[in-house]
Amino acid sequence: MRILLAEDDSGIAGHVASSLEREGYRVDVLSTGPEVWEQGETEDYAAIVLDLGLPGLDGLSILKRWRSTGVETPVLVLTARGSWMERVDGFDAGADDYLPKPFRTEELSARLRALLRRSRKNKAGTKSANRFTLDEQSRRITFDGRELDLTPLEYRMMSLFIDNPDVVLSPIELASQVQGRDDDAAKNAVEAMIARLRKKTDSEAIETRRGFGYVLPGKRP
Ligand code: CA
Repeated sequence: MRILLAEDDSGIAGHVASSLEREGYRVDVLSTGPEVWEQGETEDYAAIVLDLGLPGLDGLSILKRWRSTGVETPVLVLTARGSWMERVDGFDAGADDYLPKPFRTEELSARLRALLRRSRKNKAGTKSANRFTLDEQSRRITFDGRELDLTPLEYRMMSLFIDNPDVVLSPIELASQVQGRDDDAAKNAVEAMIARLRKKTDSEAIETRRGFGYVLPGKRP
């Protein structure tokens, strides 16, 4: 499987590339923004590992350009800073996952495996749970057949529920999966997002398990 590793720190790039190659991936390493942008658009990669701080053109701009031109390759974003706003910007720009530096290569390869697994599953088509249907190709979710107008983070949360029907997801888990961090602000943001999702669908669509979290029942009521 071919992976594009976009990283201008040659130490990190060499280390990550050799560890991924040991796991059997074919890794192309690029270090400047414009070439990453071009190659990500023209070549067929199973996934892209994208450092946000690249010379010439920053990773967020590259990602936005890819998504606006229909490049759907799963992207795992790396950043030195790891700030809250940067994470949100990254997801809004179309990142599939997020890893703050410094990281262990084991962590990166576990995230990458999960990303590839999700992307293979997604290629199978649509998934349904309860009154929701998710189409990963077009990144659309419908509720009783009606297409929902969702922000990227709402989409991310809703797809977690659809992927895990009948599983109670705790606020901490939702915050770390959706927002990339699990502090109080992130947990509050999760609760606000649940309220918005209920407004956009049905007040009973996502159920509360008091003291535990939230659940999307797999079967229709
Ligand atoms: Ca960098």
